[in-house]
Amino acid sequence: MQTETGVSLKPYNSFGLPAVAETLVRIRSDADVRRVVDDPALGRAPKFILGGGSNIILTRDMPQTVLKVEVPGRRLVEERDDAWIVEAGAGESWHDFVMWTLEQGFPGLENLALIPGTVGASPVQNIGAYGLELRERFESLDGVDLRTGLGVTIGPEMCAFGYRDSVFKHSLAGRVVITRVRFRLPKPWRPVLGYLELERKVAETGVDEPGAQQIADWVIAIRRHKLPDPQQLGNAGSFFKNPLVSPEQCRDIIGRDPEIVHYPLPDGQVKLAAGWMIDACGWKGKSVGGAAVYDKQALVLVNRGGAIGSEVMTLARAIQESVYGRFGIRLEPEPVVL
Ligand SMILES: Cc1cc2nc3c(=O)[nH]c(=O)nc-3n(C[C@H](O)[C@H](O)[C@H](O)COP(=O)(O)OP(=O)(O)OC[C@H]3O[C@@H](n4cnc5c(N)ncnc54)[C@H](O)[C@@H]3O)c2cc1C
Repeated sequence: MQTETGVSLKPYNSFGLPAVAETLVRIRSDADVRRVVDDPALGRAPKFILGGGSNIILTRDMPQTVLKVEVPGRRLVEERDDAWIVEAGAGESWHDFVMWTLEQGFPGLENLALIPGTVGASPVQNIGAYGLELRERFESLDGVDLRTGLGVTIGPEMCAFGYRDSVFKHSLAGRVVITRVRFRLPKPWRPVLGYLELERKVAETGVDEPGAQQIADWVIAIRRHKLPDPQQLGNAGSFFKNPLVSPEQCRDIIGRDPEIVHYPLPDGQVKLAAGWMIDACGWKGKSVGGAAVYDKQALVLVNRGGAIGSEVMTLARAIQESVYGRFGIRLEPEPVVL
């Protein structure tokens, strides 16, 4: 366990927002979490669990003790007849882990390539992209309860995964430090190609039976084209969740805005494209101080240089109000606002 004081969090959040952590503890093992729990001062202090900082908006300095999760390691746990079970430490880079599984010959995570952040945060919002959600490959996770210091192993039912959601955003928020995550990669492998942009790649290239590495390469290329690289232009990915509405609500909106981009879901709900609604309200390229709406994709807010958290949130609130005014839909931010 390594404790530091007065740590700038600017390098530790992908939006590049300025904030200082009074105390930051680097967590490299379950035992490190227990040491924090048992420490007379740290044990009582309010805490925030930090992964790669790619889904947070820092609006102020952090009086809470920041636990920066850096647990390493990745391995094949077991090869079954119907699946490979692989595990990674919570501090591993998600993308590097996906690439490692492919190199080892364990396909199944390729649609989730290039999502920033750590393995430990991946179940928190049930990361998803290009037709696949983490819950479809999740086996179980290990963590340590910050109240008791006890180790826990949690399976899929208890995670209560939903669209960009899980129990770690509700009853277990800030309570369990996830230290390892296991994934079940089914055999035989089947490509997931239902997403429109991947269908287009199949049509463009004529490769109609792509391998897992080919799909990862396509996903990486599409993402690089569409999303700003946080190293060059600070951002937190999609700033708002795509709202889910009933078919009746959707029909009502289509009645007023026939062009609205929407996707019917298997459970009967309809997902509306938040980026389209923001664009339709004329926000692309607009800014508040250093915070701006990305000019290529209205769902992404970016740091054009020197942005502070309050500017990002002023811009976000103005967008929410205008989308509500036109569509009657309240957009919900995806990142955690601190
Ligand atoms: C350019 C860009 C593209 C993105 N694209 C996608 C996408 O396609 N799909 C998608 O789903 N997301 C996407 N995201 C969002 C983000 O990458 C994911 O949410 C990612 O899982 C966050 O990981 P992190 O380690 O950076 O988490 P952080 O931002 O550090 O933390 C996020 C939340 O998880 C909690 N947390 C972090 N680590 C742990 C842990 N070990 N134990 C318990 N709680 C923890 C934190 O307390 C916080 O509440 C994108 C972000 C960016 C910047």
